[in-house]
Amino acid sequence: MGLLDQRFENGNIFITSFDNLMNWARLSSLWQMQFGLACCAIEMMAASASDFDIMRFGVLPRATPRQTDVMFVAGTVTLKMAQRIKRLYDQMPEPRYVLSMGSCANCGGPYWEHGYHVLKGVDRVIPVDVYVPGCPPRPEALLEGIMKLQEKIRRETLVKKKSA
Ligand code: SF4
Repeated sequence: MGLLDQRFENGNIFITSFDNLMNWARLSSLWQMQFGLACCAIEMMAASASDFDIMRFGVLPRATPRQTDVMFVAGTVTLKMAQRIKRLYDQMPEPRYVLSMGSCANCGGPYWEHGYHVLKGVDRVIPVDVYVPGCPPRPEALLEGIMKLQEKIRRETLVKKKSA
């Protein structure tokens, strides 16, 4: 019988260290699936400009959903576009995250009551991790949303993922 037998029955120490490493890598390198749908997308683009420099958070745009970690849904989600969003989301590898940017993507925005063609929140077709309020939100609000997402990723564990 070895000295360490029975000491780490659940492998907690190994899992915790591995979690920290994996989470640090994930939250520092959030490759982005851009989904600019309407006016909010202008603020999303501004966040990439030098004044706000979204890339310092490790957020890089990719041209294919298969290489992305997070989808930014920025703008009005029409019923027609909702199907495309769902299809692209399904093509993203796990773990994948969604940031809903602006009132339209969050809940329908100005079209909430009479927009017969507008989905009343992108969370009706895909799960959303972070909601950024505003019409439109400023780039600073988007950056705060990214930091909220990073906090969420920092708390994730492999154990939870397995049991989910
Ligand atoms: S939330 Fe406001 S700014 Fe953003 S897409 Fe809707 S109407 Fe445009």
